[in-house]
Formats: sequence, C-alpha cells, structure tokens
Amino acid sequence: MLKKKISKILIGTNNKGKLREIKGLLPKSIKIYSTLDFNLKSPAENGQTFTENSIIKSKYFSKKSNLVCIADDSGLEIDRLEKKPGIFSARWAGSKGDFNKAIKRVYMELDKKDKNWRGKKIKARFVCALSICYLDKIIASVIGKIDGYISNEIRGKNGFGYDPIFIPKKKRQTFGEMKFSNKCKIDHRSIAFKKIKKFL
Ligand code: IMP
Repeated sequence: MLKKKISKILIGTNNKGKLREIKGLLPKSIKIYSTLDFNLKSPAENGQTFTENSIIKSKYFSKKSNLVCIADDSGLEIDRLEKKPGIFSARWAGSKGDFNKAIKRVYMELDKKDKNWRGKKIKARFVCALSICYLDKIIASVIGKIDGYISNEIRGKNGFGYDPIFIPKKKRQTFGEMKFSNKCKIDHRSIAFKKIKKFL
C-alpha cells in the first residue's frame, strides 16, 4: 500500500458513462485526469477475468501517464447464457460500441435457449472489478456485484450500455429508467468503490 495519500489520479477508461460515474465517486480533494488529457487509446483486454482486465488497463494507463491510475473492467453476466456476455460485454456491441446491437444479441441468445424466456425471471448481475495501480505495482483490486433480472423489453433512456435491460433485485425500474445519480448510488461500481476508497 502507498504510504502517501493519493493527490492526483488518472481514470483509465475511454467509456464516457464510466468516466462520468467514477468521477462522481472520487473524493473532491483528488485532482482527476482522464485518458483524453493524454490522448490514450485503450489496451487489448486479453485477460480471462474482470480482475485481470482491470489490472491490465490500470497498469497500462499508469505507465503511459506516469500517474496512479484507477481502472475498471465490468460487464453483465446472465445465468441462462452461462454468464455471457461477461468479460465480452463491450465486444458484443461491436467496434462502434452499438448497444442496440448488444441488447439485440442478448435477446436473440435468450430466444435460442428458450422461446418462453419472457415469462420467466432471467437472473443476471453486473460485475465491476476496480483496480488502482502505479506503474507495475498493484495498490488495490476489488470486486463489486449487483444482482437482478433481465427486462423482457428495453426500457429507459438514462445511463449507458446494458442499463435499459437490467432491473436490480427488489426494484421495478431498469437502470435505464432510474435517475443516473440514483443508479450510481447502488450499482456494482459504487459497491466496488466502497471497498477501495480506503486506499485513496
Ligand atoms: P469494459 O469494462 O470496458 O470491457 O466494458 C464493459 C461493458 O459492459 C461496457 O461497454 C458497458 O457498456 C457494460 N457495462 C459495464 N458497466 C455497466 C453499467 O453500469 N451499465 C450498463 N452497462 C455497463
């Protein structure tokens, strides 16, 4: 663990939704940099798990910027699809990041498994691995999860990615229908963040 308090940090993501969310979670006293400040492209995510990928990104962006970096790797696991899309969540949206396409694929894969899935509870969860690295050193790495269900229709225009088809447990609205600030208080990223904030 670093002895000195972190005074500046790079948020290692090129995803605008994540950037907005992580910015909101970090203490106001820390000076925040984004990958845009350094014109950095994302590295290849060739890990086998969310944790491995978050460490790959965090180390990569830290070495490129010489700053402490916080990076996440996250995604949606659907039990009926053997936990897919999982670490491939971004890749299902294709190179243009088209989440209509990714959501269509979710519905198509569920249709293939079971034509009547819409009448059933399809268990799913969002997972977020959050890592803080400085160069090659791992300062902290944690996991946050939120359980829920897949909505049988696309609902809501807030949020990003798979938000319009994910209903968290004990709620009626999808993440896409909730106010973004309310979603951010309960989601997988905020759960991971609570575990990592003592390192900041
Ligand atoms: P990666 O972590 O950059 O590989 O991307 C994970 C993908 O999962 C993103 O492209 C997101 O769209 C999706 N994802 C992760 N977290 C969320 C979330 O909070 N809401 C909706 N989709 C998410």
